[in-house]
Amino acid sequence: MEINTFCPDCGNGMFLYETPKPGPIPCKRCGKGREAEGKGEVDAQGAIQKCGICGCAEFFRQKDFNTKLGLWLIVLMVVLALAFNKWFIQILIAFAVLDTALYFGLGDIVLCYNCRAIYRGLPISPKVEGFDLKIHDRYTFKKK
Ligand SMILES: [Zn+2]
Ligand SMILES: [Zn+2]
Repeated sequence: MEINTFCPDCGNGMFLYETPKPGPIPCKRCGKGREAEGKGEVDAQGAIQKCGICGCAEFFRQKDFNTKLGLWLIVLMVVLALAFNKWFIQILIAFAVLDTALYFGLGDIVLCYNCRAIYRGLPISPKVEGFDLKIHDRYTFKKK
């Protein structure tokens, strides 16, 4: 399992390989880091039930798609399509196929609605659904 969170102070990414114990998760960049509740829970299948960082029990899933990679693919496609004008349609089709292949080849990740921790490499409970703006809003406005 891999948990990906970030430092609220400097935005530096922080990686954990097990649910954290209560207490601070130190940030390597600024030395501050974030406080973990340490109440993470997994069910019998090993799917995350309760966020180990904030204690929240609501999650959503999304494709583990690297947006930077996606952007580069689009740039590459446009450059190729412009350079090889004759093959314009063929290039578009090739990239559409590649895109689809990438999309289905990727696993899902689970994100905590409250603290945006990313849980990767563990089973996902069927109760976890795609992003829901209503739940998201509930957490966003609760904080203010
Ligand atoms: Zn930091
Ligand atoms: Zn959380």
